[in-house]
Order: sequence, then structure tokens, then C-alpha cells
Amino acid sequence: MQDICQKIKKDLKNILSEHRYNHTLGVVEASKKLCIKYDEDVEKAEIASLLHDIAKQLKKDEIEDMVKKYDIKFDHIEKTNHQLKHAKIAKYIAKDIYCIKDEDILNSIEFHTTGRDNMSKLEIIICLSDYIEINRDFPGVDEIRRLSNISLELALYHALNQTIIHIASKNEVLHPDTLKARNYLLEKLGENIEKIRK
Ligand code: FE
Ligand code: FE
Repeated sequence: MQDICQKIKKDLKNILSEHRYNHTLGVVEASKKLCIKYDEDVEKAEIASLLHDIAKQLKKDEIEDMVKKYDIKFDHIEKTNHQLKHAKIAKYIAKDIYCIKDEDILNSIEFHTTGRDNMSKLEIIICLSDYIEINRDFPGVDEIRRLSNISLELALYHALNQTIIHIASKNEVLHPDTLKARNYLLEKLGENIEKIRK
């Protein structure tokens, strides 16, 4: 496992900007911490974290090449939103270049931006780590970090609420998976939502 992580890191150094590379390492550290606290597989989280943004800085023609090579199908929102494409492309790279077969790792990569209904624990950890890693600095991030010590679901629920408000305020299209993830987490939290926040 460590061999593959070293190989990915080496490749990422050539592919990503220093800023994006440091963000990726931040996600690795954040996800490892959450895995230890919430009893999830640290190695799976490390691989998913390392690969989650591997396609983030591809150029337009490189994206087109990938879409052809892997026959990637985007939904109508992804088609018009450049930012959403990197997660799905990263899943195909993980499968093809790094021979990742574990479905939970692949899903954690694919849904790290939007979330989705019925997210697994690993998916929640990767999505949340992407928000709270140490280099992130936006209003409210410390509160989400604090909540991540109380409950994974509670922390991601609040993170997604912030995202939804942010997207709405900019008159941008919200991917339905984000709303489904938010509603799923709310349902999972149930009536504990107010109790555990205090
Ligand atoms: Fe991303
Ligand atoms: Fe990211």
C-alpha cells in the first residue's frame, strides 16, 4: 500500500501546482485523523485523498482526451460545469493508472465534490476532509472543524448547508446529489441534531 502512495505522490508533484499538492496532503492528514477517531481504514483514506484532485488541473483538451479514452458520461449539470468534472475523471484515472479496485475508494473519489445519498463512512470522511484540511481558510471553517470532533454526519451536514447557501447566493446551479447528501445526513442525525451540537 505504501508503494502505491509513494508512486501517486511522485506523480502528483509533476501534475499539480504546489498549492493543489499541499491541499492534497492536507486532505490526507485530515482524513487519516478522522479515520483513527471514527474507526475507518486509514490506508483507503490515504489513497482516496491522494487521488481525489488528480484531474483538477487538466486542460480542456486533456479533459476531452480522457472523456474519449474512458468513455465518460457526464450528466447535464456536469456537462456545463467544468469544476464538477474532475471528480469523475479522477475515478477513471484511479482505476486505470493506479489499478484501484476498491469500490469504496472509487466512490469516495467520484463523490468528493457533491456528496450523494447513502454516503459511506469513507465517502463522508473524504468529502469532509476536503473542507476542513489545514490549508482551508473560509468563514465558518473552524466551526466545521469543531463539529468534526463531535460527529462526521453533523460536520458534513453543516458544511453542505454552507455550500448550498453559497451556490444559491451566486445564482449557480446546485447538483442534486449535494441536496440528497444533505437530506441523507439530516435524516441520519434525526432528533439528535440539536443534542449533539451542544
Ligand atoms: Fe476536488
Ligand atoms: Fe480537493
